[in-house]
Amino acid sequence: MIPPICAVCFRDARSDRAAFPRPLLEHLVYFSDYEPVPGGMPGQPQGALWFCVDHLEAAKASSDLPTHRALLLMSSPSRRTAVRGRRSMRQDKGRVDGSGEERPAW
Ligand SMILES: [Zn+2]
Repeated sequence: MIPPICAVCFRDARSDRAAFPRPLLEHLVYFSDYEPVPGGMPGQPQGALWFCVDHLEAAKASSDLPTHRALLLMSSPSRRTAVRGRRSMRQDKGRVDGSGEERPAW
């Protein structure tokens, strides 16, 4: 099991219970790239991280992303700009697809 330490501010649930007021497992967030450790094997599962009470809601809101992207968004002060950038990249992709359809088939 991963030590219960906030992935953003590194506060430790074992020494800072005030930062982890909820039942401990409620502070564990699973991201889109979560992969459980194969049965009985020791080690850290990918895509599951602990968050203190200050970072828990933001982590849950980003849990549809892979871990590294969610952490980047959470540690970036311009979080909204980063999300907007992601959306505009999707629109550009659509435009490329649209121009391809105009090409003659013969
Ligand atoms: Zn934290």
